[in-house]
Amino acid sequence: MPAGHADATVEKRPNILIILADDLGYADTGFTGSNQVQTPNLDRLAANGVVLENGYVTHPYCGPSRSGLITGRYQARFGNETNFTYSPYDLHQGLPLTEKTFAERLKPVGYRTGIIGKWHLGASFPFQPKQRGFDHFYGFLSGGHSYWPDSVTTQLDLYSPNGAINYSINEGGKLPLSHNDQVGEFDEYLTTALSRDAAAFVKEGNEPFLLYLAYNAPHSPLEAPDELIQKYRHVEPWTRRVYLAMIDSMDQGIGMVIEALEESGKLDNTLIFFLSDNGGVAPKAGYVNEDWADNGPLRKGKGSVFEGGCRVPYLMHWPDGLPRGKVYEFPVSSLDIAATTVALGQGDTRGHPLDGVNLIPFLDGTRNDAPHIALFWRIRDGTGWAIRTPTAKMLKEGYSSRPPELYDMQSDPYESDNVIDSRPELRQQLAQLWNTWNSKNQSNRFLQSNEYQKERLELYRQLDEQLKADALKRPQLVIE
Ligand code: CA
Repeated sequence: MPAGHADATVEKRPNILIILADDLGYADTGFTGSNQVQTPNLDRLAANGVVLENGYVTHPYCGPSRSGLITGRYQARFGNETNFTYSPYDLHQGLPLTEKTFAERLKPVGYRTGIIGKWHLGASFPFQPKQRGFDHFYGFLSGGHSYWPDSVTTQLDLYSPNGAINYSINEGGKLPLSHNDQVGEFDEYLTTALSRDAAAFVKEGNEPFLLYLAYNAPHSPLEAPDELIQKYRHVEPWTRRVYLAMIDSMDQGIGMVIEALEESGKLDNTLIFFLSDNGGVAPKAGYVNEDWADNGPLRKGKGSVFEGGCRVPYLMHWPDGLPRGKVYEFPVSSLDIAATTVALGQGDTRGHPLDGVNLIPFLDGTRNDAPHIALFWRIRDGTGWAIRTPTAKMLKEGYSSRPPELYDMQSDPYESDNVIDSRPELRQQLAQLWNTWNSKNQSNRFLQSNEYQKERLELYRQLDEQLKADALKRPQLVIE
Protein backbone atom coordinates (compact mmCIF):
# COMPACT_ATOMS: atom_id res chain seq x y z
CA MET A 1 0.00 0.00 0.00
CA PRO A 2 1.55 3.36 -0.93
CA ALA A 3 2.36 5.80 1.81
CA GLY A 4 -0.40 8.28 2.46
CA HIS A 5 -3.13 5.92 1.30
CA ALA A 6 -5.13 6.34 4.49
CA ASP A 7 -5.05 10.12 4.11
CA ALA A 8 -6.19 9.84 0.51
CA THR A 9 -9.15 7.77 1.68
CA VAL A 10 -10.04 10.38 4.27
CA GLU A 11 -9.94 13.11 1.63
CA LYS A 12 -12.59 11.31 -0.38
CA ARG A 13 -15.17 11.88 2.31
CA PRO A 14 -17.86 14.08 0.79
CA ASN A 15 -18.85 17.55 1.83
CA ILE A 16 -22.34 17.60 3.28
CA LEU A 17 -24.90 20.32 2.49
CA ILE A 18 -28.33 19.98 4.09
CA ILE A 19 -30.80 22.54 2.76
CA LEU A 20 -34.05 22.81 4.70
CA ALA A 21 -37.06 24.85 3.61
CA ASP A 22 -39.71 25.90 6.13
CA ASP A 23 -43.41 25.11 5.62
CA LEU A 24 -42.93 24.47 1.90
CA GLY A 25 -46.00 22.91 0.27
CA TYR A 26 -45.49 19.49 -1.28
CA ALA A 27 -46.49 20.70 -4.76
CA ASP A 28 -44.67 24.04 -4.58
CA THR A 29 -41.45 23.16 -6.40
CA GLY A 30 -40.93 22.38 -10.05
CA PHE A 31 -39.58 18.92 -9.28
CA THR A 32 -42.72 18.00 -7.33
CA GLY A 33 -45.01 19.14 -10.11
CA SER A 34 -45.64 22.88 -9.83
CA ASN A 35 -46.05 24.76 -13.07
CA GLN A 36 -46.61 27.99 -11.18
CA VAL A 37 -43.39 28.63 -9.24
CA GLN A 38 -39.98 28.75 -10.90
CA THR A 39 -37.34 26.65 -9.13
CA PRO A 40 -34.78 25.89 -11.87
CA ASN A 41 -31.91 25.27 -9.45
CA LEU A 42 -33.81 22.73 -7.39
CA ASP A 43 -35.12 21.13 -10.56
CA ARG A 44 -31.58 20.76 -11.88
CA LEU A 45 -30.48 19.07 -8.64
CA ALA A 46 -33.46 16.73 -8.94
CA ALA A 47 -32.76 15.93 -12.58
CA ASN A 48 -29.12 15.12 -11.79
CA GLY A 49 -29.76 13.38 -8.49
CA VAL A 50 -32.33 11.21 -6.74
CA VAL A 51 -35.88 12.33 -5.95
CA LEU A 52 -37.18 10.63 -2.81
CA GLU A 53 -40.81 10.39 -3.73
CA ASN A 54 -41.95 9.08 -0.35
CA GLY A 55 -39.75 11.27 1.82
CA TYR A 56 -41.01 12.01 5.33
CA VAL A 57 -40.14 14.22 8.25
CA THR A 58 -40.72 13.07 11.83
CA HIS A 59 -43.16 15.77 12.92
CA PRO A 60 -45.72 17.95 11.13
CA TYR A 61 -44.31 21.23 12.45
CA CYS A 62 -41.03 23.03 12.93
CA GLY A 63 -39.24 22.42 16.21
CA PRO A 64 -39.67 18.69 16.80
CA SER A 65 -39.08 17.99 13.09
CA ARG A 66 -35.73 19.77 13.35
CA SER A 67 -34.83 17.89 16.54
CA GLY A 68 -35.31 14.61 14.68
CA LEU A 69 -33.40 15.76 11.64
CA ILE A 70 -30.37 17.17 13.46
CA THR A 71 -29.95 14.23 15.85
CA GLY A 72 -31.00 11.44 13.52
CA ARG A 73 -33.18 10.15 16.34
CA TYR A 74 -36.93 10.22 16.77
CA GLN A 75 -37.50 13.23 18.99
CA ALA A 76 -39.95 11.14 21.03
CA ARG A 77 -36.83 9.30 22.27
CA PHE A 78 -36.10 12.40 24.33
CA GLY A 79 -39.62 13.65 24.95
CA ASN A 80 -39.72 16.53 22.47
CA GLU A 81 -43.21 17.08 21.06
CA THR A 82 -43.48 20.83 20.87
CA ASN A 83 -41.57 23.93 19.78
CA PHE A 84 -38.98 25.27 22.19
CA THR A 85 -39.22 28.88 23.37
CA TYR A 86 -36.88 31.46 21.87
CA SER A 87 -36.09 33.17 25.16
CA PRO A 88 -32.35 33.34 25.91
CA TYR A 89 -33.31 33.15 29.60
CA ASP A 90 -35.22 29.88 29.36
CA LEU A 91 -32.80 27.27 30.65
CA HIS A 92 -35.41 24.50 30.50
CA GLN A 93 -36.26 24.41 26.83
CA GLY A 94 -33.82 23.20 24.21
CA LEU A 95 -32.54 20.10 22.49
CA PRO A 96 -31.46 17.96 25.48
CA LEU A 97 -27.72 17.97 26.07
CA THR A 98 -27.83 14.17 26.26
CA GLU A 99 -28.35 14.21 22.46
CA LYS A 100 -25.74 14.76 19.76
CA THR A 101 -26.30 16.76 16.60
CA PHE A 102 -24.83 15.54 13.30
CA ALA A 103 -22.31 18.37 13.66
CA GLU A 104 -21.18 16.98 17.04
CA ARG A 105 -20.57 13.65 15.32
CA LEU A 106 -18.62 15.06 12.34
CA LYS A 107 -16.64 17.93 13.85
CA PRO A 108 -14.36 15.64 15.91
CA VAL A 109 -13.30 13.76 12.75
CA GLY A 110 -12.23 16.87 10.87
CA TYR A 111 -15.34 18.39 9.36
CA ARG A 112 -15.74 22.17 9.36
CA THR A 113 -19.31 22.67 10.50
CA GLY A 114 -21.82 25.47 10.01
CA ILE A 115 -25.46 26.33 10.48
CA ILE A 116 -26.93 29.26 8.58
CA GLY A 117 -30.53 30.34 9.17
CA LYS A 118 -33.11 29.11 11.62
CA TRP A 119 -32.03 27.26 14.76
CA HIS A 120 -35.21 26.83 16.88
CA LEU A 121 -33.63 24.22 19.16
CA GLY A 122 -33.21 26.31 22.31
CA ALA A 123 -32.00 29.89 22.74
CA SER A 124 -30.23 29.96 26.11
CA PHE A 125 -26.47 29.56 26.08
CA PRO A 126 -26.09 25.77 26.58
CA PHE A 127 -28.44 25.08 23.68
CA GLN A 128 -26.99 27.52 21.15
CA PRO A 129 -25.41 26.26 17.91
CA LYS A 130 -21.82 26.97 18.92
CA GLN A 131 -22.32 24.67 21.93
CA ARG A 132 -23.85 21.94 19.73
CA GLY A 133 -21.00 21.20 17.38
CA PHE A 134 -21.14 24.10 14.95
CA ASP A 135 -18.02 26.17 14.18
CA HIS A 136 -20.02 28.79 12.32
CA PHE A 137 -23.45 30.29 13.00
CA TYR A 138 -25.16 33.03 11.05
CA GLY A 139 -28.88 33.29 11.62
CA PHE A 140 -31.41 33.40 14.41
CA LEU A 141 -32.25 31.32 17.46
CA SER A 142 -36.01 31.76 17.18
CA GLY A 143 -38.62 29.91 15.15
CA GLY A 144 -39.04 32.60 12.51
CA HIS A 145 -37.72 35.97 11.43
CA SER A 146 -38.66 39.07 9.51
CA TYR A 147 -37.12 39.19 6.06
CA TRP A 148 -36.17 42.86 5.93
CA PRO A 149 -33.62 44.57 8.16
CA ASP A 150 -35.82 47.60 8.84
CA SER A 151 -38.52 45.29 10.18
CA VAL A 152 -36.34 44.87 13.24
CA THR A 153 -37.15 48.34 14.53
CA THR A 154 -39.99 49.80 12.51
CA GLN A 155 -42.64 47.13 11.96
CA LEU A 156 -43.97 46.59 15.42
CA ASP A 157 -47.43 45.58 14.26
CA LEU A 158 -48.71 42.56 16.08
CA TYR A 159 -51.04 41.43 13.34
CA SER A 160 -50.29 40.76 9.70
CA PRO A 161 -52.63 42.19 7.03
CA ASN A 162 -54.73 39.03 6.89
CA GLY A 163 -55.37 39.08 10.62
CA ALA A 164 -53.07 36.25 11.66
CA ILE A 165 -50.87 36.86 14.67
CA ASN A 166 -47.48 38.04 13.51
CA TYR A 167 -45.23 35.13 14.30
CA SER A 168 -42.14 37.32 14.03
CA ILE A 169 -43.01 39.30 17.11
CA ASN A 170 -44.31 36.49 19.23
CA GLU A 171 -41.34 34.28 18.65
CA GLY A 172 -38.46 36.72 18.66
CA GLY A 173 -38.41 37.18 14.93
CA LYS A 174 -37.43 40.83 15.11
CA LEU A 175 -34.38 40.33 17.30
CA PRO A 176 -31.01 40.96 15.64
CA LEU A 177 -29.39 38.08 13.83
CA SER A 178 -26.45 36.26 15.39
CA HIS A 179 -23.11 35.93 13.66
CA ASN A 180 -21.07 33.57 15.77
CA ASP A 181 -20.76 35.42 19.08
CA GLN A 182 -21.62 38.82 17.64
CA VAL A 183 -24.71 40.60 16.36
CA GLY A 184 -25.13 39.58 12.74
CA GLU A 185 -25.08 42.07 9.90
CA PHE A 186 -28.25 42.09 7.86
CA ASP A 187 -28.67 44.70 5.15
CA GLU A 188 -30.63 42.96 2.40
CA TYR A 189 -33.48 40.47 1.95
CA LEU A 190 -32.86 37.78 4.55
CA THR A 191 -33.02 34.79 2.21
CA THR A 192 -30.37 36.42 0.02
CA ALA A 193 -28.20 37.27 3.03
CA LEU A 194 -28.33 33.67 4.26
CA SER A 195 -27.54 32.36 0.76
CA ARG A 196 -24.59 34.73 0.40
CA ASP A 197 -23.14 33.57 3.69
CA ALA A 198 -23.64 29.93 2.66
CA ALA A 199 -21.89 30.52 -0.67
CA ALA A 200 -18.90 32.03 1.19
CA PHE A 201 -18.86 29.17 3.70
CA VAL A 202 -18.70 26.37 1.11
CA LYS A 203 -15.87 28.09 -0.78
CA GLU A 204 -13.58 28.28 2.25
CA GLY A 205 -10.82 25.81 3.03
CA ASN A 206 -9.92 22.36 1.79
CA GLU A 207 -11.12 20.23 4.69
CA PRO A 208 -14.54 18.57 4.28
CA PHE A 209 -17.48 20.63 5.49
CA LEU A 210 -20.94 20.04 6.84
CA LEU A 211 -23.33 22.94 6.28
CA TYR A 212 -26.89 22.97 7.58
CA LEU A 213 -28.59 25.72 5.57
CA ALA A 214 -31.93 26.14 7.31
CA TYR A 215 -33.93 28.77 5.45
CA ASN A 216 -36.98 30.21 7.19
CA ALA A 217 -38.42 30.68 3.69
CA PRO A 218 -41.20 30.36 2.80
CA HIS A 219 -42.55 30.53 6.38
CA SER A 220 -44.54 33.64 7.35
CA PRO A 221 -44.29 36.63 7.62
CA LEU A 222 -45.06 36.96 3.92
CA GLU A 223 -42.35 39.33 2.70
CA ALA A 224 -40.45 39.27 -0.59
CA PRO A 225 -38.58 41.65 -2.91
CA ASP A 226 -40.94 43.69 -5.11
CA GLU A 227 -39.36 42.55 -8.38
CA LEU A 228 -40.00 38.91 -7.46
CA ILE A 229 -43.57 39.63 -6.39
CA GLN A 230 -44.05 41.30 -9.78
CA LYS A 231 -42.86 38.12 -11.47
CA TYR A 232 -45.95 36.39 -10.02
CA ARG A 233 -48.39 39.31 -10.46
CA HIS A 234 -50.86 37.05 -12.26
CA VAL A 235 -51.23 34.89 -9.13
CA GLU A 236 -54.13 35.40 -6.71
CA PRO A 237 -54.57 35.86 -3.82
CA TRP A 238 -51.72 38.18 -2.80
CA THR A 239 -50.65 35.82 -0.05
CA ARG A 240 -49.82 33.07 -2.53
CA ARG A 241 -48.15 35.58 -4.86
CA VAL A 242 -45.72 36.66 -2.14
CA TYR A 243 -45.23 33.07 -0.96
CA LEU A 244 -44.20 32.01 -4.48
CA ALA A 245 -41.79 34.95 -4.66
CA MET A 246 -40.24 33.75 -1.38
CA ILE A 247 -39.72 30.27 -2.84
CA ASP A 248 -38.28 31.81 -6.00
CA SER A 249 -35.77 33.78 -3.91
CA MET A 250 -34.80 30.66 -1.99
CA ASP A 251 -34.20 28.81 -5.25
CA GLN A 252 -32.03 31.66 -6.54
CA GLY A 253 -30.09 31.53 -3.26
CA ILE A 254 -29.56 27.80 -3.70
CA GLY A 255 -28.27 28.65 -7.18
CA MET A 256 -25.69 30.98 -5.60
CA VAL A 257 -24.48 28.19 -3.33
CA ILE A 258 -24.29 25.68 -6.20
CA GLU A 259 -22.30 28.19 -8.24
CA ALA A 260 -19.88 28.64 -5.34
CA LEU A 261 -19.45 24.87 -5.15
CA GLU A 262 -18.79 24.69 -8.88
CA GLU A 263 -16.29 27.55 -8.80
CA SER A 264 -14.34 25.92 -5.99
CA GLY A 265 -14.39 22.51 -7.68
CA LYS A 266 -16.38 20.95 -4.85
CA LEU A 267 -19.77 20.25 -6.40
CA ASP A 268 -19.08 16.70 -7.56
CA ASN A 269 -18.07 15.52 -4.10
CA THR A 270 -20.72 17.38 -2.15
CA LEU A 271 -23.73 15.41 -0.99
CA ILE A 272 -26.70 17.78 -1.05
CA PHE A 273 -29.99 17.07 0.68
CA PHE A 274 -32.99 19.29 0.10
CA LEU A 275 -36.29 18.93 1.96
CA SER A 276 -38.95 20.86 3.88
CA ASP A 277 -39.35 20.60 7.66
CA ASN A 278 -43.10 19.94 7.29
CA GLY A 279 -45.99 20.40 4.91
CA GLY A 280 -47.43 23.71 3.76
CA VAL A 281 -50.20 25.62 5.48
CA ALA A 282 -53.51 24.82 3.86
CA PRO A 283 -57.22 25.35 4.64
CA LYS A 284 -57.79 21.62 4.42
CA ALA A 285 -55.49 21.25 7.44
CA GLY A 286 -57.50 23.77 9.40
CA TYR A 287 -55.59 26.92 8.47
CA VAL A 288 -58.05 29.71 7.85
CA ASN A 289 -55.89 32.81 7.55
CA GLU A 290 -52.80 31.01 6.30
CA ASP A 291 -53.84 29.36 3.09
CA TRP A 292 -51.11 30.04 0.56
CA ALA A 293 -49.41 26.68 0.16
CA ASP A 294 -50.29 23.84 -2.20
CA ASN A 295 -49.74 20.30 -0.96
CA GLY A 296 -51.01 18.87 -4.23
CA PRO A 297 -52.94 15.64 -3.92
CA LEU A 298 -51.72 15.01 -0.38
CA ARG A 299 -54.33 15.10 2.35
CA LYS A 300 -54.23 18.02 4.83
CA GLY A 301 -51.00 19.94 5.60
CA LYS A 302 -48.83 21.40 8.33
CA GLY A 303 -49.80 20.12 11.78
CA SER A 304 -51.37 16.87 10.56
CA VAL A 305 -50.11 13.29 10.50
CA PHE A 306 -51.92 12.81 7.20
CA GLU A 307 -49.53 12.91 4.23
CA GLY A 308 -49.82 16.66 3.69
CA GLY A 309 -48.21 17.34 7.06
CA CYS A 310 -45.31 14.90 6.99
CA ARG A 311 -44.49 13.97 3.41
CA VAL A 312 -42.28 16.63 1.88
CA PRO A 313 -40.33 17.56 -1.26
CA TYR A 314 -37.07 15.66 -0.74
CA LEU A 315 -34.04 15.13 -3.00
CA MET A 316 -30.39 14.11 -2.83
CA HIS A 317 -27.63 15.12 -5.24
CA TRP A 318 -24.06 13.78 -5.25
CA PRO A 319 -22.42 13.30 -8.67
CA ASP A 320 -19.53 11.24 -7.26
CA GLY A 321 -21.71 8.82 -5.33
CA LEU A 322 -25.32 8.70 -6.51
CA PRO A 323 -27.12 7.86 -9.74
CA ARG A 324 -28.56 10.71 -11.77
CA GLY A 325 -32.19 11.16 -12.65
CA LYS A 326 -33.51 8.47 -10.34
CA VAL A 327 -36.86 8.42 -8.57
CA TYR A 328 -36.86 6.33 -5.40
CA GLU A 329 -40.18 5.06 -4.09
CA PHE A 330 -39.63 3.26 -0.78
CA PRO A 331 -40.39 5.47 2.24
CA VAL A 332 -37.35 7.30 3.64
CA SER A 333 -37.01 9.71 6.54
CA SER A 334 -35.30 12.93 7.50
CA LEU A 335 -33.68 10.71 10.17
CA ASP A 336 -31.65 9.11 7.38
CA ILE A 337 -29.69 12.32 6.83
CA ALA A 338 -27.67 11.95 10.03
CA ALA A 339 -27.16 8.22 9.53
CA THR A 340 -26.00 8.71 5.93
CA THR A 341 -23.66 11.58 6.65
CA VAL A 342 -22.13 10.03 9.78
CA ALA A 343 -21.47 6.82 7.79
CA LEU A 344 -19.90 8.66 4.84
CA GLY A 345 -17.94 11.05 7.05
CA GLN A 346 -16.75 8.24 9.36
CA GLY A 347 -18.19 10.27 12.22
CA ASP A 348 -18.40 9.63 15.92
CA THR A 349 -21.07 6.98 16.54
CA ARG A 350 -20.82 6.96 20.31
CA GLY A 351 -23.83 7.96 22.41
CA HIS A 352 -27.43 7.10 21.70
CA PRO A 353 -28.01 4.91 18.63
CA LEU A 354 -29.25 6.58 15.45
CA ASP A 355 -32.74 5.71 14.22
CA GLY A 356 -32.10 6.36 10.53
CA VAL A 357 -30.20 4.31 7.96
CA ASN A 358 -27.41 5.07 5.51
CA LEU A 359 -29.40 5.52 2.29
CA ILE A 360 -26.52 5.25 -0.18
CA PRO A 361 -26.59 1.42 -0.63
CA PHE A 362 -30.34 1.64 -1.24
CA LEU A 363 -30.05 4.43 -3.77
CA ASP A 364 -27.04 3.14 -5.73
CA GLY A 365 -28.67 -0.26 -6.28
CA THR A 366 -26.51 -2.27 -3.85
CA ARG A 367 -29.66 -3.14 -1.90
CA ASN A 368 -33.15 -3.70 -3.23
CA ASP A 369 -35.08 -4.09 0.01
CA ALA A 370 -36.88 -1.28 1.84
CA PRO A 371 -34.71 0.92 4.09
CA HIS A 372 -37.36 0.92 6.84
CA ILE A 373 -39.80 -1.70 8.08
CA ALA A 374 -41.85 1.26 9.27
CA LEU A 375 -41.68 4.97 10.07
CA PHE A 376 -43.35 6.31 13.21
CA TRP A 377 -44.89 9.51 14.56
CA ARG A 378 -46.06 10.59 18.00
CA ILE A 379 -47.42 14.11 18.50
CA ARG A 380 -49.43 16.26 20.90
CA ASP A 381 -48.61 14.51 24.15
CA GLY A 382 -49.04 11.14 22.51
CA THR A 383 -52.69 11.77 21.60
CA GLY A 384 -51.74 11.78 17.91
CA TRP A 385 -49.72 9.10 16.21
CA ALA A 386 -49.01 7.36 12.93
CA ILE A 387 -47.13 4.42 11.46
CA ARG A 388 -46.19 4.06 7.79
CA THR A 389 -44.90 0.81 6.30
CA PRO A 390 -44.00 0.47 2.60
CA THR A 391 -47.57 -0.65 1.92
CA ALA A 392 -49.85 0.74 4.65
CA LYS A 393 -50.43 3.61 7.05
CA MET A 394 -52.40 3.81 10.28
CA LEU A 395 -52.89 7.11 12.08
CA LYS A 396 -54.79 9.13 14.59
CA GLU A 397 -54.87 12.92 14.65
CA GLY A 398 -53.90 14.44 18.01
CA TYR A 399 -56.38 16.10 20.39
CA SER A 400 -59.16 14.86 18.14
CA SER A 401 -62.22 12.71 18.60
CA ARG A 402 -61.61 11.02 15.23
CA PRO A 403 -60.98 7.32 15.72
CA PRO A 404 -57.85 5.70 14.24
CA GLU A 405 -57.75 5.25 10.46
CA LEU A 406 -56.00 2.77 8.19
CA TYR A 407 -55.03 3.19 4.54
CA ASP A 408 -53.62 0.93 1.85
CA MET A 409 -50.81 3.14 0.56
CA GLN A 410 -50.29 1.12 -2.60
CA SER A 411 -53.82 1.41 -3.95
CA ASP A 412 -54.75 4.58 -2.04
CA PRO A 413 -51.69 6.83 -1.57
CA TYR A 414 -53.81 9.91 -0.86
CA GLU A 415 -55.61 8.39 2.11
CA SER A 416 -59.21 8.54 0.93
CA ASP A 417 -60.55 5.06 1.74
CA ASN A 418 -60.32 4.14 5.43
CA VAL A 419 -60.12 0.33 5.68
CA ILE A 420 -59.66 -0.01 9.43
CA ASP A 421 -62.83 -2.05 9.91
CA SER A 422 -62.08 -4.50 7.14
CA ARG A 423 -58.39 -5.21 7.93
CA PRO A 424 -58.25 -6.27 11.62
CA GLU A 425 -55.08 -8.33 11.21
CA LEU A 426 -53.17 -5.51 9.61
CA ARG A 427 -54.43 -3.17 12.29
CA GLN A 428 -53.08 -5.48 15.00
CA GLN A 429 -49.76 -5.90 13.24
CA LEU A 430 -49.22 -2.15 12.88
CA ALA A 431 -50.32 -1.48 16.46
CA GLN A 432 -47.77 -4.00 17.69
CA LEU A 433 -44.98 -2.37 15.66
CA TRP A 434 -45.89 1.07 16.99
CA ASN A 435 -46.07 -0.15 20.59
CA THR A 436 -42.64 -1.74 20.31
CA TRP A 437 -41.24 1.50 18.93
CA ASN A 438 -42.97 3.57 21.58
CA SER A 439 -41.63 1.40 24.41
CA LYS A 440 -38.25 3.11 23.91
CA ASN A 441 -39.68 6.64 23.98
CA GLN A 442 -40.08 9.20 26.73
CA SER A 443 -43.30 11.04 27.46
CA ASN A 444 -43.40 14.62 26.26
CA ARG A 445 -41.28 16.51 28.77
CA PHE A 446 -41.93 19.94 27.30
CA LEU A 447 -45.15 21.90 27.23
CA GLN A 448 -47.77 22.05 24.53
CA SER A 449 -50.07 24.98 23.89
CA ASN A 450 -51.45 25.21 27.40
CA GLU A 451 -51.75 27.94 30.03
CA TYR A 452 -47.98 28.21 30.39
CA GLN A 453 -47.59 28.91 26.69
CA LYS A 454 -50.40 31.46 26.70
CA GLU A 455 -48.87 33.28 29.66
CA ARG A 456 -45.46 33.17 28.03
CA LEU A 457 -46.75 34.72 24.82
CA GLU A 458 -48.66 37.39 26.76
CA LEU A 459 -45.46 38.25 28.65
CA TYR A 460 -43.56 38.59 25.38
CA ARG A 461 -46.31 40.80 23.97
CA GLN A 462 -46.07 43.07 26.99
CA LEU A 463 -42.28 43.19 26.75
CA ASP A 464 -42.61 44.08 23.10
CA GLU A 465 -44.97 46.94 23.94
CA GLN A 466 -42.48 48.14 26.54
CA LEU A 467 -39.65 48.05 24.01
CA LYS A 468 -41.76 50.04 21.60
CA ALA A 469 -42.52 52.66 24.29
CA ASP A 470 -38.87 52.81 25.34
CA ALA A 471 -37.80 53.36 21.75
CA LEU A 472 -40.04 56.43 21.55
CA LYS A 473 -38.53 57.83 24.74
CA ARG A 474 -34.93 57.19 23.72
CA PRO A 475 -32.85 60.39 23.94
CA GLN A 476 -31.37 61.71 20.70
CA LEU A 477 -27.90 63.23 20.62
CA VAL A 478 -27.66 66.52 18.77
CA ILE A 479 -24.29 67.03 17.07
CA GLU A 480 -23.73 70.58 15.85
CA1 CA B 1 -41.93 24.58 9.58
